[in-house]
Amino acid sequence: MSEHRETFDAVVVGSGPNGLSAAVSLAQYGASVLVLEAAGEIGGGTRTAQLTLPGFEHDVCSAVHTMGILSPFFRSLRLEEHGLRWIVPEASVAHPLDDQPAVMMWSSVEETSGGLGADASSYRNLITPFLDNAEGFFADAIGPLRWPRHPDLFARFGLRAMWPASSFAKWRFQQSRARALFAGCAGHSILPLDKAFTAALGLIFSIAGHVKPWPVAAGGSQAIPRALASLLHGLGGEIRTGVRVTSVQDLPAARVYLFDTSPDQLSSIAGSALPNAYLRRLARYRYGPGVFKLDWALDGPIPWRDPNCLEASTVHLGGTLEEIAAGEKTTFQGKHPKRPYVLLCQQSQLDASRAPEGKQTGYAYCHVPGGSTVDMTEAIERQVERFAPGFKDRILARHAMNTHDFHRYNPNYVGGAITGGVADAFQLFTRPVARLDPYSTPNPRIFICSASTPPGGGVHGMCGYHAAKSALTQIERFEPAPLSA
Ligand SMILES: Cc1cc2nc3c(=O)[nH]c(=O)nc-3n(C[C@H](O)[C@H](O)[C@H](O)COP(=O)(O)OP(=O)(O)OC[C@H]3O[C@@H](n4cnc5c(N)ncnc54)[C@H](O)[C@@H]3O)c2cc1C
Repeated sequence: MSEHRETFDAVVVGSGPNGLSAAVSLAQYGASVLVLEAAGEIGGGTRTAQLTLPGFEHDVCSAVHTMGILSPFFRSLRLEEHGLRWIVPEASVAHPLDDQPAVMMWSSVEETSGGLGADASSYRNLITPFLDNAEGFFADAIGPLRWPRHPDLFARFGLRAMWPASSFAKWRFQQSRARALFAGCAGHSILPLDKAFTAALGLIFSIAGHVKPWPVAAGGSQAIPRALASLLHGLGGEIRTGVRVTSVQDLPAARVYLFDTSPDQLSSIAGSALPNAYLRRLARYRYGPGVFKLDWALDGPIPWRDPNCLEASTVHLGGTLEEIAAGEKTTFQGKHPKRPYVLLCQQSQLDASRAPEGKQTGYAYCHVPGGSTVDMTEAIERQVERFAPGFKDRILARHAMNTHDFHRYNPNYVGGAITGGVADAFQLFTRPVARLDPYSTPNPRIFICSASTPPGGGVHGMCGYHAAKSALTQIERFEPAPLSA
């Protein structure tokens, strides 16, 4: 392997959780690795910043790490030894409704089903079989692409996951409470809930909530990339920030190159080293809706009508299944719903380090059409106020980001799309294009490792891990050389 300072075995473009995971995987194998990051700070979608007032630490992008705490790769790294501490809430989800107590997804299935009336046993029977071998289930669900190690369990999941979330919830549950809870979880898919396979995320997020309640990272999501970077440095890897790669000329000599970027950027940076047919296929990649996000500095806790809501890391604001489904469909059709489905996180309720004493941070976003510049502040705050009258009086300061702001902040967020592109039945396993090894490209020295590869969006590092495995099959074949050569 190479020892010269300006040549590397592998160069990774981008230091998001997938870029860093790829770099760590390669360095574990003994490769010399350089990570180039455009921003002044590592982390991509996992940075934390004082967006509103001094002393208020806001997660700029990802906030709650449902998949992070369960990621087989992260678990193997013992990130806790590098400063990462998960804070696990009593409840993963609170789902307030207009005229009744909030539906709560507590850690315990029994306690959760206790709030679901006639659907208690149906919910229990849906979730419990996956809990007996949760580790095996998640290793298959977000683990390496391979024949499942637990085929019975995975078949059980697959038969339910293939449904549209709204039909599944209506078939499975008789009452509005369980239906709403399931719709809120499925809404994380950023797809209309009448699309096939949207039940998958509803199920995965529900099961996860009973395995490890959806946590936040102590000190902010930035603790995740910092732990990965500490591990990487310990393995001899190097990270350079403030380096935006715009063409292959910007890249030092290496054996292989991994792009923690959108397919769009892979084309614009490395297009000269890739065949036109592949570039045409990348150009057909669909990014989907974006988000509009608000961060608040608050004078105290959100005054939920049902105080149980304060126990949850995440609050789903959208009312009934029908209302959430209608809102998400409207967004997918390129319009802005009056009552958007809002995902709200309460990091400072769990982690006092996020706000000055007696104060709180607030974080919420809704899905909007890709490229939207519509200001959704009022629509989001109306949804919070609907379930927490007096909320607006607690706002000390707010910070807003529309889809253009997100795209400027991180070029991977094309049109403001936050999870690496549409993850529907067609694009989930064929991202960025249909290939037996989706991390590879027709150029055997170029790989893509971002959330635009399987298993898709979220902070779990699995895309980076798989891409590194793919790159390692080629790395010995090449001597370090410029990519343009
Ligand atoms: C508002 C929002 C909320 C979210 N909430 C959650 C959540 O609660 N939980 C969760 O699990 N996930 C969440 N996500 C999604 C999650 O953040 C992403 O799926 C994840 O960060 C993807 O990781 P990545 O490594 O693929 O890419 P990114 O995190 O996007 O990192 C890519 C990095 O590459 C750098 N880069 C790009 N182009 C270049 C270039 N040309 N040269 C040099 N560097 C470059 C970028 O600056 C960036 O640092 C959220 C995202 C957003 C935006």
